Amino acid sequence: MMAAMRGVKAEGGWGVVCTEYCSIHASSDESPYASASLRDDDDVRNLRLMTDAVHAQGSLAGVELWYGGHTSANLYTREVALDVASLPNSSSLGVPVQSQAMSKADIRAFRGMHRDAATRAMAAGFDIVYVYGNHDYLLHNFLNPYYNQREDEYGGSIENRVRLLREVIEDVSEIVAGRCAVAVRYSMPIQLDEDPQALIECFRQIAELPDLWDITVDDYRYEMGSSRFVKEAAHQAAVAKVKSMTSKPVVSVGRFTSPDTMLAQLANGTQDFIGAARPSIADPFLPRKIDRGRVEDIRECIGCNVCYAQESLAVPIRCTQNPTMGEEWRRGWHPDRIDSRHADESVLVVGSGPAGLEAACALGQRGYRVILAEAEQELGGRINRESRLPGMSEYARVRDWRVGQLAIMENVQIYPDNRLDSESILELDSQHVMLATGARWRSDGVGRWSNAPFAGCELDTVIGVEQVLSGYIPDGHVVIYDDDHYYLGSAIALQLCAQGASVTLVTPETSPALWSRHTEEHSLTMQALIEADVEMITARGLVAWEPGEAVLECVFSKRQSKIQADFLIPISARTPDDELWCELDARRDEFEAQGGLSLQRVGDCRAPGIIAAAVYAGHKAARELGCSEVEFKRDRVVV
Ligand code: ADP
Ligand code: SF4
Repeated sequence: MMAAMRGVKAEGGWGVVCTEYCSIHASSDESPYASASLRDDDDVRNLRLMTDAVHAQGSLAGVELWYGGHTSANLYTREVALDVASLPNSSSLGVPVQSQAMSKADIRAFRGMHRDAATRAMAAGFDIVYVYGNHDYLLHNFLNPYYNQREDEYGGSIENRVRLLREVIEDVSEIVAGRCAVAVRYSMPIQLDEDPQALIECFRQIAELPDLWDITVDDYRYEMGSSRFVKEAAHQAAVAKVKSMTSKPVVSVGRFTSPDTMLAQLANGTQDFIGAARPSIADPFLPRKIDRGRVEDIRECIGCNVCYAQESLAVPIRCTQNPTMGEEWRRGWHPDRIDSRHADESVLVVGSGPAGLEAACALGQRGYRVILAEAEQELGGRINRESRLPGMSEYARVRDWRVGQLAIMENVQIYPDNRLDSESILELDSQHVMLATGARWRSDGVGRWSNAPFAGCELDTVIGVEQVLSGYIPDGHVVIYDDDHYYLGSAIALQLCAQGASVTLVTPETSPALWSRHTEEHSLTMQALIEADVEMITARGLVAWEPGEAVLECVFSKRQSKIQADFLIPISARTPDDELWCELDARRDEFEAQGGLSLQRVGDCRAPGIIAAAVYAGHKAARELGCSEVEFKRDRVVV
């Protein structure tokens, strides 16, 4: 699966395509999270699939040799992790185990692991071999005096702390002997003025050692920051600092999606190469599009971090903007190509949220005669409302890219401000109908914590999410009850605070916005809520709303308590907008009698979910029109 995905990236024009972090030993195992591995000859054969796919497109392949240290709980291998000291497991799982402090013999063995892995990397056909001296991993921990309190020649002075990283770079360089380039991934402090000594001085010691520096920052909340809090090219001060200290080429990521920003990085000497993880996921063909002058066709990453959530949930990658991501091998989907229409037929798509827009785009690309009807004046559905929330403007790219693509398709007709009913749909006489009419937020509190409406949900001081998203500003103290746990509750809280309201955020979970841990948004969300003086009450479900107060129940003890407020905004589940579907389904005989061939619903009107799910549903329906659904291939061992 990964080999096919990376082959597509190479086809899309990326000059170098790298693995993710690649374990070099059984004691560096971050299961349940997936990583590449180069621990034996079978791994060599597996990774050969990737290097062959990348080389076939004329690109170079890089491998990121990685040893985790105390980030690895080794849940699968049951080995003991080595590190600079005996440190508690630092993965987000917080497993109650510690690493073993390395002896001199362990250090020798550790160097041997890198030498062996570098030998295997060459056997697998890699062109660039990385040493991973970043994040909270072993090699980085040796540099850090906070962790490294050793009294031997690997601790104490800067020369001593950098010794192991230096030795490993030299070992790997000796093994590859000029046949591969040696790159080092290195974290710089995000706040250069706060800690100028430790990491910068260590860097100075080895600045000329590798062939390439790959620079990141030492705070994952910013390196992997979501667009709500971290914008394009956010770490460039740290990258520029490195660039000023070495004559070797420097590459860095920075969620670069704009060719102008990329060019500026190169022109102002911040870095020599543009690195991209998320932009290459959202649009694997980004470099080709620049090359061919198709800049307006670039499908820019929105910074939602749903791709990262899949890693954090230990399941294969997906992307909000690019529904083909992860499906290159499983379903044979390509990000820039799609099969032509199966017949000269017409399709009516009703609703222009993410599902309807994506369906219309992919159907248009296939060459069908498409009509897209939308009740509102503006295309976009939920995107229009949500992208106006604080920090979320980049979500509008989900709409804008598709609207831009549709505008140049002569076979697609768009009718905004047209609310269709079953009668008008039958009158339009399309052979295929796809309903993408979306969903509405409930305002009765029914959701995960409770399957029954709370008492008082009908009072006019209960404000629905849709009302707030349409611009209504309650004047007074507001309780937001968040049983959704993703971004909406916190984003609305921050919006209301910015408009002058005082807000209390109540959640049945043990922390607000808990699901956003997976998208690496949780910590910065909490910081923003605290800084906005949002009062937070956790582990409480909503039982009733009485004018002026909410009755809450502790999810553990069932004890009840009350809080005072003027308004209540419940955010729990959504109701599919499926009245039209039910009406049409009841008239299916009429539809078929007049030549109708298929009738289906996609996206939130079928099953409410995240935006990525709606885009995916629209794309899948469009790809599969006129074809029988194919079960996706699974990566598995077959004996
Ligand atoms: P999804 O996430 O599934 O794409 P959205 O809620 O974002 O769903 O979008 C649904 C869109 O469908 C909205 O823009 C809404 O105005 C539109 N819509 C709903 N009912 C109709 C209808 N009967 N005719 C035309 N458009 C409709
Ligand atoms: Fe960007 Fe979101 Fe796609 Fe990740 S999932 S690449 S953050 S658009």
